[in-house]
Amino acid sequence: MITSPGLELVFQTTSRYIPSIMTTLPFLSDIESIAPTPILVAPQPVLRAVAREVTPDDMALVKSHLPGMFSAMYKAPGIGLAAPQIGLGLRFALVDVADEGERHPMVLINPEIIEESEQLAAREEGCLSLPNQYAEVIRPLSVRMRYRTLEGAIEEIEADDLLATCLQHEIDHLDGILFVDHLSKLKRNMIMRRLAKEQKGR
Ligand SMILES: [Zn+2]
Repeated sequence: MITSPGLELVFQTTSRYIPSIMTTLPFLSDIESIAPTPILVAPQPVLRAVAREVTPDDMALVKSHLPGMFSAMYKAPGIGLAAPQIGLGLRFALVDVADEGERHPMVLINPEIIEESEQLAAREEGCLSLPNQYAEVIRPLSVRMRYRTLEGAIEEIEADDLLATCLQHEIDHLDGILFVDHLSKLKRNMIMRRLAKEQKGR
């Protein structure tokens, strides 16, 4: 996920998360020297596929992709990146919603929303797989998510505001869903046409 350029201030609000979710990743100290993994742009079919669960046997592969994925996410800059966005059909995603100048990297393996608030919130969303396209999406304001850590532990967090939006956006990617799917057909088609036109002109 990417935040809309005009709304940075709005986002410096109260997303809360348990610090233990933040992962220590040694390669982050020298992330600028790591080549970013190319991010696929819609309408790539893998972005529409349901990714499969990560098993213990997949962990080495997952870990091998993290440096390039974090490099791509920070370089964009984006606040979330899911494995299908680099062509990998596995259920994991990266998230970092920290304010500028700080880093709170999270790696979510097999994440699932287990509770969501009835209260909804509208927020402008963008996506690294739909460059330059933004639209207001309505989703639950807060969620409870269960996921596995890189060490294999099962944990739960509660999130609201920007982090809640970001988690829902990234988990959608694992199910082949893009933020435009939450819009009217008219708006979705408009964005997809504009994106195709812009990509052609590159
Ligand atoms: Zn996205």
